Amino acid sequence: MERAFSIFVISLSRRSPGEGGRIRVSFFVISAFACPAVVPRLRDEGGCFVICFPFCASCVTFPFMRRAIYPGSFDPITNGHLDVIERARKLFDEVVVAVAHNDEKQPLFSLKDRLDLLRETAGKIDNVRIAEFEGLLVEFARKEEAGAVIRGLRAVSDFEFEFQMALMNRKLDASVETIFLMPKEEYTYLSSRIVKEIARLGGDVSAFVPVLVARALAIKLKKNISTK
Ligand code: ADP
Repeated sequence: MERAFSIFVISLSRRSPGEGGRIRVSFFVISAFACPAVVPRLRDEGGCFVICFPFCASCVTFPFMRRAIYPGSFDPITNGHLDVIERARKLFDEVVVAVAHNDEKQPLFSLKDRLDLLRETAGKIDNVRIAEFEGLLVEFARKEEAGAVIRGLRAVSDFEFEFQMALMNRKLDASVETIFLMPKEEYTYLSSRIVKEIARLGGDVSAFVPVLVARALAIKLKKNISTK
């Protein structure tokens, strides 16, 4: 909560000597904290100079904003991820879907491709922003001023790993809460891994992923086969 916003409007009104030559100075401070995005501007509006410090929308809402991070590999995004995003965005003012730089998993899609697919799907939903991060999730959450991390829970098999990760993140930063959301039943068996497997074997994945992703999978797998 250290950072907030400022709107200063200083208006200097000049009148011609015939009109009394008065200079009126008005100074309004609407809120006084420092925002690094603020750049002062000087405008001349017919003899009235207005110095204003415009503010960014995120600054205005910042003190009241409930933001959550939904981290993952999203290799690629599935309807299960979208279901979780839809649920999360009803609970938070903004959901940041964040792709982890994690080369250990040897993803099928490059980071850029995964981000592009996310932007074209989840990125079109209100209150959803797409981002990427490297390093510790709690540090990214702190940087984004997010109070929560969203994870999806499909089955008991997810639980052990997710539980361990949530407790470790809490140890690293107790101010970041992990929230688990369950998808619609029909998505509980869905994972990016299984979708890739079906696509690789020539199966139809259109019921599991957005059309754009199904198309990207077909192109990617054809390319992979032809380069082998
Ligand atoms: P990660 O590499 O972090 O597991 P994933 O992209 O596989 O990344 O998953 C990101 C998050 O979304 C995880 O919390 C995972 O449990 C959740 N998730 C993945 N698929 C589904 C699904 N079908 N329904 C609900 N949650 C899901």
